[in-house]
Amino acid sequence: MRLLILLGAPGSGKGTQAKSLAERLGLVHLSTGDILREEVRRGTQLGNQANQHMNAGELVPDDLILDMIKTKLVFDSMNRGFIFDGFPRTVTQAEGLGWLADEVGAGIDRVISLAVDDEVIVGRLSARSSCGVCGAIYNDVSNPPSRAGFCDNDDAALIRRSDDSEAVVRNRLTVYYQQTKPLEEYYSRRGLLLKVDGHGTTDQILTRILTSLAASGTNDRTQV
Ligand code: AMP
Repeated sequence: MRLLILLGAPGSGKGTQAKSLAERLGLVHLSTGDILREEVRRGTQLGNQANQHMNAGELVPDDLILDMIKTKLVFDSMNRGFIFDGFPRTVTQAEGLGWLADEVGAGIDRVISLAVDDEVIVGRLSARSSCGVCGAIYNDVSNPPSRAGFCDNDDAALIRRSDDSEAVVRNRLTVYYQQTKPLEEYYSRRGLLLKVDGHGTTDQILTRILTSLAASGTNDRTQV
């Protein structure tokens, strides 16, 4: 089973790129943020435990996240692999993923880190909306829907995430630098890190990622 990780600050484009990469490479897209938002919406025990952390832009405790990932990996262990978006976010989570991967006989192929300037991120997130039905992500400036406020795919109303307000975004960035950025060093030491410029259009960034994967010798060329 193949495991790819997308690292990057909130708003660096992980979700958009992970969706495209999952389609191109035949992997399951696993976004811990999407799973947690669904748990909150359904009012589950996990959702209730996660909600206050998410609203403050803080991380949900590692043990809850690792339990959630373990369930997904074991349940879906027969598929070709996963692309993780928003996981791992701490060194403890990265270590936990290493053990889980060993358990299911998988290896981490590559870790792609999207580099985007902070001010670009704050601008992107304040213009971001998504479809509550199909999950498509839009940006008022760089990728607007054809009809303002409605999804191109299914015409459902677009929603803004409550944690995309400027104050919460700034806290999410601080948390990112303190707890997640060190993972670049963690994976670089293991020879797995690919740094990719995350500025530009969605297609430009996707091309950079695929080129970088191919150059590192891990791309499945038949799928690209
Ligand atoms: P995201 O959609 O990836 O920006 O995640 C939204 C929020 O969900 C984050 O600000 C965290 O509160 C929480 N979250 C998502 N993934 C994780 C994770 N791997 N570890 C801890 N908290 C997470």
